[in-house]
Amino acid sequence: MQPLNKKHVKNLDQNFIKKDQSFKYRCTQCGEWCRNKPLEDRILLSTVDIYRAAGMLELEMQDVISRYCDMVPGKESMLPLMLMKQRLDGSCIFLRKGKCTVQDNKPLVCALYPLGRMEFLNEETGEYDFHYYLKDFRKEGCHAAEDEEWTVQQWLDRFNVEPYDDCVKLYRELGAACSKLMHSCDTDEEKREMFGTSFYMMFVKYDRKQPLKEQMALNLAFVRSLKPSLFFNLAGN
Ligand code: SF4
Repeated sequence: MQPLNKKHVKNLDQNFIKKDQSFKYRCTQCGEWCRNKPLEDRILLSTVDIYRAAGMLELEMQDVISRYCDMVPGKESMLPLMLMKQRLDGSCIFLRKGKCTVQDNKPLVCALYPLGRMEFLNEETGEYDFHYYLKDFRKEGCHAAEDEEWTVQQWLDRFNVEPYDDCVKLYRELGAACSKLMHSCDTDEEKREMFGTSFYMMFVKYDRKQPLKEQMALNLAFVRSLKPSLFFNLAGN
């Protein structure tokens, strides 16, 4: 998802909540979120999600991908996209006996639920910041109880979300760089090769025992070095 500049967003109907504001929610493990997802709503996994699962399951990134992901090519981005596998009954591949097998390191979109978040440009700092909103979980069929109160910050801390914020931003930059390279390819052969390189740099060339941020930054620098003229002003102007 591309980050947004708030000024340019009209008709935004999310009610954003600050990190010290609270909401009421207690998961009753009804499994509604983990089952019955229509195919078009399958969860898209990022490098961060695969890295977190790899650490928890003690598998290499490549093994997590082959066991738990379906790779599809993105139509507009032309990038490899990682969809979380579902069983034939529509339940998530990580769900076993009603429990999430990657609970403490589950994909960020699951960890955040019932919160959602969007990225906006902070015009003072020039950085992109996350803004959080509470989803209408009742409307989504979730059977959570509302007898526990959490601040947004407590919810984020609970699943160790924020330490990965920089990596989520790097994932966006890496995807944007790979997509730019894909669109710059002239021949089908070049596209095939670049697709393989994008897949490797975005999802595979990571050691799950080493910090992720540094590895992502290195992969991003490598991707940009493949066609420097696309990313750097070589004339120095
Ligand atoms: S990863 Fe875990 S929380 Fe997310 S849908 Fe699958 S079983 Fe549910």
